[in-house]
Amino acid sequence: MHTDQRYDFVIIGGGLGGLMCAGILSQNNYRVCVLERDKKAGGNLQTFSRNGCLFDTGMHYIGSYDKGQPLYQIFRYLGLVDKFKVQRLDDEGYDVISIGDREFRFSTGYDNFSKNLKQYFPGEESAIDAYIDTIKRVSNQVNTLGIFDDETDKAAYFFSYNESAFDFINNLTQNKLLRAVLAGNNGLYCGNSKKTPVNLLANTNNFYLGSAYRMSGGGHQLANALVSKIEQQGGLVLTGKKVTRLSFEGKRVASAETSAGEAYFADNFISAVHPAVSLDWIEPGKLPKVYTDRIRNIENTIGAFVLYLVVGKGKIRHRNGNLYYSVDEDVWDINRTPGKPWPHGYMLYTTKDGDTGYAESITVVTMLEYNEVRQWENTVTGRRGEDYRRFKQEKMEALTTLILKKLPEIKGNVLHSYAATPLTFRDYTGSVNGSMYGIEKDCNNALKTFISVRTKIPNFYFTGQNINNHGMLGVTIGALITAGNFIDIQSVVQKIRNA
Ligand SMILES: Cc1cc2nc3c(=O)[nH]c(=O)nc-3n(C[C@H](O)[C@H](O)[C@H](O)COP(=O)(O)OP(=O)(O)OC[C@H]3O[C@@H](n4cnc5c(N)ncnc54)[C@H](O)[C@@H]3O)c2cc1C
Repeated sequence: MHTDQRYDFVIIGGGLGGLMCAGILSQNNYRVCVLERDKKAGGNLQTFSRNGCLFDTGMHYIGSYDKGQPLYQIFRYLGLVDKFKVQRLDDEGYDVISIGDREFRFSTGYDNFSKNLKQYFPGEESAIDAYIDTIKRVSNQVNTLGIFDDETDKAAYFFSYNESAFDFINNLTQNKLLRAVLAGNNGLYCGNSKKTPVNLLANTNNFYLGSAYRMSGGGHQLANALVSKIEQQGGLVLTGKKVTRLSFEGKRVASAETSAGEAYFADNFISAVHPAVSLDWIEPGKLPKVYTDRIRNIENTIGAFVLYLVVGKGKIRHRNGNLYYSVDEDVWDINRTPGKPWPHGYMLYTTKDGDTGYAESITVVTMLEYNEVRQWENTVTGRRGEDYRRFKQEKMEALTTLILKKLPEIKGNVLHSYAATPLTFRDYTGSVNGSMYGIEKDCNNALKTFISVRTKIPNFYFTGQNINNHGMLGVTIGALITAGNFIDIQSVVQKIRNA
């Protein structure tokens, strides 16, 4: 079936990357149509409710959202500020790093962060200064949006890409506890001791060091705000549209075809879906084999195992920040080191029960290898069978046991518990093997994991977490990079700075 309309852009995938790119292009007078396979737009911005509690799936906190900071300025330019509720996290502990029994609080702002850390670690002043200096140096280009001054696509990606984050931390100091604390929130980028580049560690920490906020009321508010914006500007966001094929006229894509047999025509096509998945829509011969082989063979980050707990009223104190817990100082490669009991650590946060000061729910995120769930990969959510239910139950219990070590007050106060595995994420967002953050960046071979937004197909582009960096700011900047092929990016960046 042919749809009558022809668009300037068909954008495939209605997660943050696709919606953000559509929002930027429609603000710049292009007519866009977003095709999302799920019944709801948002991808990882989606939320779900259980027992009256709202849970986020893949957007737990955001950063750099004070006036003048990059995420705030971009959102202001797009008219998104005030379209969703935020709650500022504790400036004296937006992240609390717990190594065994000891706790270390991360404070907002370079100076406070440094001052507090130096109190925990007297004698380590020069290591802490060197850490902060590197974060500042690497992230300055993001903070000022200076990455848009020259060849954006590469500049954003490559800055400090060839250095290993693990070596960087280890070279700062011999103090094992300080090393563990500085890398203690590395679940934010699936810290891999052999591969993670310094820029991921730096940009992620810089993002939250600037300011940290919870999207209270749920990440879906941002997805809804983006959908409204796109529609107000004459664009469309269509859900329940799974793209399965791109048809061609010569070298150019002519239409995106869905599993229901509909065809959507446009001048340009942007995929916000994992590049390896996107290649399956394209007949062989349209792209060089060396390129498609490279993309298909890139490894992806490990998947997530997430525990969602509904807790009794007035029982557990709400904490206005995140707890990163590790059993010991061995904080890298969480849940990937063979022979170690699962899980080795987690990130945990609570949501507030009104103004009571108590929690109504707790979300706990840790990692799980896809191999552990591979035997159920041909099943779908809700119908995976009794052995999968038992497997999930065992994992929930193992994670709860570790949580109780740190938070014994939870015992007897959990009313309901739910969990998501890499299969859940795969089925809801289409991420390869339920990978948390998509393509795993590799400092040993930066070019191998670099995906340009442009392809050899003249009107087919990429956006989303697999180009540039993952996360709210990484994906938003990625959307600007992709849109920058069609809009006057210099003048847009100036507008963003002045917004
Ligand atoms: C557990 C977890 C916690 C996280 N926490 C944070 C956090 O606290 N802060 C932060 O900044 N980042 C966080 N992230 C990362 C962040 O959520 C992602 O980097 C970001 O949302 C990715 O956006 P995306 O658009 O690239 O991908 P996605 O959100 O995966 O969107 C891709 C979309 O494409 C659709 N799709 C797939 N195949 C097709 C098809 N064939 N046709 C049409 N549509 C298709 C999917 O349904 C999906 O909606 C977290 C991620 C996870 C997994």
